[in-house]
Order: sequence, then C-alpha cells, then structure tokens
Amino acid sequence: MIKAAGITKNFGKNSVLKNVSTTINRGEVVAVIGPSGSGKSTFLRCLNLLEQPTSGEIWINDQAITDRKTNKLEVRKQIGMVFQHFHLFPHMTVLENVTYAPKKVKKMKSIDAEAKAKGLIAKVGLSDKMNTYPSRLSGGQKQRVAIARALAMEPEIMLFDEPTSALDPEMVKEVLDVMKDLVDTGMTMVIVTHEMNFAREVADRILFLDDGKLMEEGDPGTFFSQPKTDRAKDFLAKIL
Ligand code: ADP
Ligand code: MG
Repeated sequence: MIKAAGITKNFGKNSVLKNVSTTINRGEVVAVIGPSGSGKSTFLRCLNLLEQPTSGEIWINDQAITDRKTNKLEVRKQIGMVFQHFHLFPHMTVLENVTYAPKKVKKMKSIDAEAKAKGLIAKVGLSDKMNTYPSRLSGGQKQRVAIARALAMEPEIMLFDEPTSALDPEMVKEVLDVMKDLVDTGMTMVIVTHEMNFAREVADRILFLDDGKLMEEGDPGTFFSQPKTDRAKDFLAKIL
C-alpha cells in the first residue's frame, strides 16, 4: 500500500533522511521509533507530502505521489494524520471540527457529514462533548477528537506523530485504547511513538531510525529482545 524507495530529505546542508526504503502492506501497523531528531516526523510528513523528499520515490497504491505532477490535496485525502499537539480548530466545536473537512473538501452534505461525525465522536467516547469547544477539553479528549476528525475523511492510511507525548500520564491510555480499536478495524497505520509497550503489543513491525537512517526493521518481538545494531541496543537501554 505504501512503498518508500530511497527517500532522502535535506534541509539545506542538513541531511535528515538518508536513503530510507520500506514497504507497508494494507492493514499493517508499523511503529516508527528512534531518538529525538532522528527523522521520524520528517519521514511521516514525507508520506503525505507535507514534506517533499529531496530524492527517492513514494508510492501509495501504485501511484508515485512524489511525481511533481501529483495533486497533493488528492493524496492527503487518502491519508489521515494525527499530531502531537492536536491542531484542532479552536473556534469550532467538536462537531464542527469533525464535519469541516468532509463538507469543505469532500463536498458532503451537512446532514450526512453530521451523521457520520456523530458516529465517530461516539466511537471515541465523546458524545457528551459534541458542542464543546476545544479549550474546554482535556488533552486526551482533544486527541480523541483529532482522531475522529481524521477518520471523518475516510482515509485509507492513518499517520500518528507521537499522539500521546503531550498528554498527562493518566490520559495516555484513553488515546491508546482508541488507537487499538482502530487497529482492530484493519486500518493501515504508521505510528511514531515512545510508548514501547504499545508498540510491542500492536505493531506488526518496528522501524528504528537513527540519524536519518533506517537502521533496523523487524517484528517487535525480535527487535525488543534481540536488537541487531549497537544504536538500537543503546536506545533501548536508555528508555526501557
Ligand atoms: P524526530 O521526529 O525524530 O525528532 P525530525 O524529523 O523532527 O526528527 O527532525 C530531524 C532533523 O531535521 C532535526 O535535526 C530537525 O532539526 C530537522 N528539521 C526538521 N524539520 C525541519 C525544517 N522544516 N527545516 C529545517 N530543519 C528541519
Ligand atoms: Mg518528531
């Protein structure tokens, strides 16, 4: 479903991704881990063209999205993204946040967008907050709205960039539980996370990035118990 071939990204002289290649199958859940500054966010942002790779190709469903002729908005319609800091529209209620893009981008009728949004808001456990503004929500609630908002566009792929890193500890579980429900639906997911227990439990595969390079890639059991590289061993020793 996603194929990255030799992705390199430079910011000026700073080489942030170095020849990263991987393939992600439909329904697969991939956790991207690695030290701060290793290029995890940049990799994720390349997958939906929030960043254009300096070189290399990305294919989504047999379409080379890195081709300059590609319509970036069309690509992003297929790919939902959830950020560390939620990025909700502050002047819109929960319901308005979730209906906005389907109405604006997909030209859905209000009544249909609202019916769909209400279902999604219920799924993330926030039916009682439908008409609340983001400033009145906890971090965990905001992130659950952000997930519902991304799902409202009916994406084929969901990208998560440290979705629980900005949350107070007691709110991490409610967000991870929503993500687990999504895993159970068969969604293709790429998740940058520092939640190693979560990665071990739900990921089909771990990508370990270090200094812009894909240093290791493998199933969680093997990666966590027998990391191959010293970089991965050092990283795991620091955080586990
Ligand atoms: P991670 O998510 O693993 O912490 P990032 O992908 O955010 O890493 O960043 C990798 C490197 O790229 C860092 O050195 C960061 O400063 C640099 N970087 C990221 N985005 C930009 C940008 N828009 N302009 C310049 N440098 C950037
Ligand atoms: Mg990051």
